[in-house]
Order: sequence, then structure tokens, then C-alpha cells
Amino acid sequence: MSRVYNFSAGPSMLPEEVLKKAQTEMLEYGTSGMSVMEMSHRSKDYQDIIDSAEALVRELMHVPDNYKVLFLQGGGSTQFAMIPLNLASKNKKADYVITGQWAKKAAAEAERYITVNRVASSADKTFSYIPKLDKSTFSSDADYFYICYNNTIYGTRYTELPQCDVPLIADISSCVMSEEIDVSKFGLLFAGAQKNLGPAGVTLVIVREDLIGDAMDITPTMLDYKTHADNGSMYNTPPTYGIYVLKLVLEWIKEQGGVKALQEINEKKAKILYDYLDSSKMFKGTVVPEDRSLMNAPFVTGNEELDAKFVAEAKAAGFVNLKGHRTVGGMRASIYNAMPVEGVEKLVEFMKKFESENM
Ligand SMILES: *Cc1c(COP(=O)(O)O)cnc(C)c1O
Repeated sequence: MSRVYNFSAGPSMLPEEVLKKAQTEMLEYGTSGMSVMEMSHRSKDYQDIIDSAEALVRELMHVPDNYKVLFLQGGGSTQFAMIPLNLASKNKKADYVITGQWAKKAAAEAERYITVNRVASSADKTFSYIPKLDKSTFSSDADYFYICYNNTIYGTRYTELPQCDVPLIADISSCVMSEEIDVSKFGLLFAGAQKNLGPAGVTLVIVREDLIGDAMDITPTMLDYKTHADNGSMYNTPPTYGIYVLKLVLEWIKEQGGVKALQEINEKKAKILYDYLDSSKMFKGTVVPEDRSLMNAPFVTGNEELDAKFVAEAKAAGFVNLKGHRTVGGMRASIYNAMPVEGVEKLVEFMKKFESENM
């Protein structure tokens, strides 16, 4: 068997221990005599799985008691509609900061239902920084304020939260459990699982209870947070196997020492890569240093042919999915929780070798 170092932005690599555990439990989960995939979601065995997944989210993220933890479907993108439909029935207005494609898409989707005020954008410099905010541009009657915490495609992240007087909503798809986040500062947080939490098909939503139950009349039953909150994420069949693997990932995070311990490792990994990018004469990071993501590091050589040569040679050497997003070009290394320090060290070694051979 030869597993590669997978730098995919998502779906992305999972801890090998998790895959092995899933493998050993594939044919028979516990003493159930069946695979989790074959299990009724109404069975006691499955209830235990989803209950421990929720308990682990609460423990690892220190979720306060007045928040619901939901496991939904439809990916991060469905949240782009659920958020305005559920949270903006009062004034039908919200503020958005445009820091990249995912924030842009979220704002465009919200605009189908409500008035969107784009309070700032970093589009002028290909989203290579997090814009400074001016409170005088905020709407006084916004129902919520929306940010994308970590920008997967452009490689930026917030290090300081906006100071707004309305519920703060954040897309944490690509940084969930990679660094400590104070849940109590937010009205709602959401993350598609396929970057840091498990396979595609599950979306984690953490929402303050008082924001549930006031959806617009047009809201489909399945897009109403109340439907899922009232039914323990089991109004209909949940993505059972995805939630099970997510539970295994959460157990793995706990074994690593929790989110704080992972954050330290992630900071170390990011430093190894960014230090090299800053010292290299060939490769260069595309993001301003103060806003660099811990999870997604885009970089370029400045020469498209050389970029392509690098991506091809890296792939042949076992470092895969390093091609940058089509809108940025160049390269991007996604170094989520499951990427070991060694993977980043070996990548940097390979980049140094490539640099010396191609200068
Ligand atoms: C991947 C991603 C999304 C989209 O998630 P889907 O599950 O594919 O809908 C949204 N926001 C961010 C920040 C992402 O990284």
C-alpha cells in the first residue's frame, strides 16, 4: 500500500487511524451484527453514535448549553440559503463581508430573499487580505452579520472578529476544530464536514437557541432549523455513515489532546511552509502575512509553465492535489488537521530540491 500526501482542499485527507477503525468496524459494528451503513437510524446503536458525535462536538468546541448542535445535509452551500430564510424574517436585511468566492456565493444566495449590504470586500487585490471594517458602513437594522472565517480558495483567515451588535454568523467549513473558536461570540457557525471533520455529506451547524423558530413562511420544512433542532437531527434519515465517520474523527481529535493541541500543531505546520515561502527565491505566498490561513496556503512561482512543472513533479513524488484553484492559478497546499507535520516537512524538502534544480 502506498498512501500519498494529499494536499486536497476538500474532500481532503482523513487521519489514517480513523480509516482503519472504520475498516475494522465495516462488517460488524460492536455486537450489532451489521455495518453502520445497514443500520436503522432509529436503532439504539445508531442513537448512541449520533449522541456521542454531538457530545464530542460540545466538548471539543466548548459549546455553551444554549446552542443546538445539528447534523444536516446539503453541504455548506445549503446554509447560504438557510441562514437568511431562518434568521432574517424581521428586517429582511443582513451585512456581508466579501472575502472570496464562498462569501460571494453566500451573499448572492441571501440576496434572493433579503437585502444584502456588502460592507467590505477584498476583491480589488484578488482576495489576498482580510479587509479592515468601518462600523459606519454596517446596517443599523441588519438581522445578522456574515463572514467566511477561513477562505479556502484564497488562503486568508480572520484573526480578529468584527465588532457588530447583531448576531455574528460564520462559515467555518475549512477551519473548524483547527484552532480554538469562542462559540459564544457567534449566533451561528457552520461547516461542511469534508475538510476537517469527515467525509462529504454532513454539515455541522451550531446555532444559538433564540435564533431558531422564526423562519420565513416560505421556508421549506427541511430548511427550517427548528425542524432539525426539535428532532435531534433525525426528522428524516440523516447521513448516517457520514455522521459515524465524523464521530471517529472527533474521537481522534480528542486523542490528539483536543482543538488547542491541534492548533499548536497547525501553527507549527503553517510556519514551516510560510517560513520557506518567505525565504525562497522561486516560490512566493500570495497572501499578506498577517492574514495567512493555517489551513490553506496558496503560492506561485510567477511563471505558469514552472507552476505546472512543479505540480506534475510533485504529484510523481507523492505530493498530490497541489494545483491552485482555477481562479487563482499557481499552487495551494491545504494542510488540514489530518496532515501530519512530516507531510509538510517533506513537501518543503521537495520544494527546496525543485527550486535548486530549476533556478
Ligand atoms: C468547501 C466550502 C464551502 C462549500 O461547501 P459544500 O459542502 O461543497 O457546499 C463553503 N464554504 C467554505 C469556506 C468552503 O471551504
